[in-house]
Amino acid sequence: IRQKIVAGNWKMNGSRESIVSLIGGLLKMDGSSSEVVVAPSFPYLSQVNDLIDGSSVMLAAQNVSHELKGAYTGEVSASMLGDFGVKYVLLGHSERRSLYSETDDIVASKVKAVLGFGLVPMLCIGETLAEREYGKTLDVCERQIQAVIDVVGIAAFEQMTIAYEPVWAIGTGLSASAEQAQEVHRSIRAFLAKSSESVSQKVQILYGGSVKASTSSALFKMPDVDGALVGGASLDAKEFIAIVKAAG
Ligand code: 13P
Repeated sequence: IRQKIVAGNWKMNGSRESIVSLIGGLLKMDGSSSEVVVAPSFPYLSQVNDLIDGSSVMLAAQNVSHELKGAYTGEVSASMLGDFGVKYVLLGHSERRSLYSETDDIVASKVKAVLGFGLVPMLCIGETLAEREYGKTLDVCERQIQAVIDVVGIAAFEQMTIAYEPVWAIGTGLSASAEQAQEVHRSIRAFLAKSSESVSQKVQILYGGSVKASTSSALFKMPDVDGALVGGASLDAKEFIAIVKAAG
């Protein structure tokens, strides 16, 4: 049995003030059997780490350098994230891949850096609309995963989570249906099972892309959907809590 994870990717949103009220709202939530995670921008990691202290909410970062330390102006290392209580690091988000030219190889080297400091990579994968229309959905997801297996090995996936985020569903209001998500999640697990059956059963695969409270319960009923990576709806405490509740 895999524990569900509901993670909020705040992207480049928020202020000191809005974060106090958003986290304040989340902390009023009753206990949940799912793990609740929030991913603020770098400057707010410390603030959020203090605010969630003593609660069961976990901290994620949205990105990291693949370098470990040194003369890399403007970059943030995995060890720095560990210093601020970060547990998860989003890697390979489609916005990083498309807007900041992160290749499969760069993503894989970031995964390696994150694992090296005992943090948990949340590896984001997913196809564009054109790729789906050409029937390439699984090819793309498998290529993005294989690039990481090639660098860190399949066993490392026991210490990782995967987020399937079809690019066409991100920020569009057009979520994949529960059945569409399940079909891809099941195939991703089958692909991992070719390298390791036990790893394939353990790894949590989250769905992301226009997740809302109203669509989340159908998603969470799917056997291979182990939670959600929520963008826009995670900026609203009520909506995010409703998604956490739907996860059980
Ligand atoms: P939306 O929920 O806003 O579509 O964003 C999804 C996402 O990119 C989470 O990482």
